Amino acid sequence: MKHDAIVIGAGPAGLLAANEIAKRGYSVQVLEEHERVGEPDHCAGLLSTSGLKRLGIKLPKDIIQNTVAGARIYSPAGHSILVERGKREANVIDRKKFDAWLASRAIDSGSEVTTKAHVGEFVREKGKVKGVRLRGEKDTELDARVFVIAEGSRCVLSGSVGLPVVQKSNKYPAYQYEVSGVDIDDNIVEMFYGKRVAPGFFAWIIPLGERRARIGLAARDKSKIRLDALMRNHRIISDRMKGAKIERSLGGIVLVGTPISKMTTENVVAIGDTAGIVKATTGGGVILGGMTARVAGKIVADSLSTDDAVNSTLSQYNKKCKSMVFKELGMMHLAQRALTSLDDKGIDSVIKDAATMGLLDVVKSEGDMDLQGKVITRLLKDPRMILTGLRAIRYINPFL
Ligand SMILES: Cc1cc2nc3c(=O)[nH]c(=O)nc-3n(C[C@H](O)[C@H](O)[C@H](O)COP(=O)(O)OP(=O)(O)OC[C@H]3O[C@@H](n4cnc5c(N)ncnc54)[C@H](O)[C@@H]3O)c2cc1C
Repeated sequence: MKHDAIVIGAGPAGLLAANEIAKRGYSVQVLEEHERVGEPDHCAGLLSTSGLKRLGIKLPKDIIQNTVAGARIYSPAGHSILVERGKREANVIDRKKFDAWLASRAIDSGSEVTTKAHVGEFVREKGKVKGVRLRGEKDTELDARVFVIAEGSRCVLSGSVGLPVVQKSNKYPAYQYEVSGVDIDDNIVEMFYGKRVAPGFFAWIIPLGERRARIGLAARDKSKIRLDALMRNHRIISDRMKGAKIERSLGGIVLVGTPISKMTTENVVAIGDTAGIVKATTGGGVILGGMTARVAGKIVADSLSTDDAVNSTLSQYNKKCKSMVFKELGMMHLAQRALTSLDDKGIDSVIKDAATMGLLDVVKSEGDMDLQGKVITRLLKDPRMILTGLRAIRYINPFL
């Protein structure tokens, strides 16, 4: 049977795109390699309230585990700043339930979602992708007019059709525990920076309520070893974890780069993590990846309404996506690079200055958890930030 569209990967990006295509009346087959959508999960589950609104999503109550008002950011020496704006800024969600709920929405709109279906390769005819073959089922070919690659950070299938892929050096290993019996403030996320804590990224504690939390870390390497060491030895973290019980653990890949330069080729489009649409400052990809996936879904539907213009209609996605998020994501990448190029004394200096020089007022008045580009640009133009930067520049780490 030939479908209008095949979506590979039932993560948030794939499911949001499928929903948009199916609700416009086209037949959509979503193929997911795992037995259940959303499992195994690889997420801290922090989604901004404003971002969910932008996605047009009102979450069912049982998906929301907690809401938080802000984040406390710690420097290596233990200086801290509290970034909050007096309102419930973000939801902590159960990612397994979230993905399963997105799948049920996509199905309600008319998509078919098939699990235990690992796409092994594309089948080509006259230079165009014609179908997919499932791994272990050499004789089964599923055909479609358009293909949406939403395979996450792996980028195997996108590479196989000649699309640019996320660079290996921009993929950081992450590790996370869910713990009970912790001593934390249930209203605040905590983030810990430092070359010795998590080179290139940070460690986090996300409260789940009732003395439960997700504690995780991403770094250039050895994320589990580093996280275990912090839980034993870090002055603040080990205190929080005293008497805590580990309930479960998970690993994953966090992306810290910029989006790929071209996201479509012929009748194929890459979305979400596969296209590198992730905030380099936090590794969060659900909201911006989801917003652009919805746009991709609409453009795929437009391309399906024309007989011979699939390629040119689909390629509009590149333009749309670039104007929507590329500048934002570029600024976040710059900020992430600047912060992680400092050694520990440099990070101490920035965090101390941010607290004493009133830079937090700018974040409070103009901050946005997802579209961070505006506040970064505004900060870069602020003389106080320039002074902060000059003071911190002494500590640029020559070894990165
Ligand atoms: C530890 C950790 C914490 C994170 N925390 C947050 C957070 O708090 N907030 C946030 O916004 N983001 C967070 N992220 C990032 C977020 O998880 C990703 O940005 C998001 O999941 C990307 O969605 P996606 O749909 O593009 O890809 P994915 O969610 O990775 O989905 C891809 C799907 O495709 C399937 N697949 C892959 N290849 C094939 C194939 N060949 N055939 C069939 N199926 C295939 C996979 O099994 C998977 O189900 C975190 C990531 C990590 C690792």
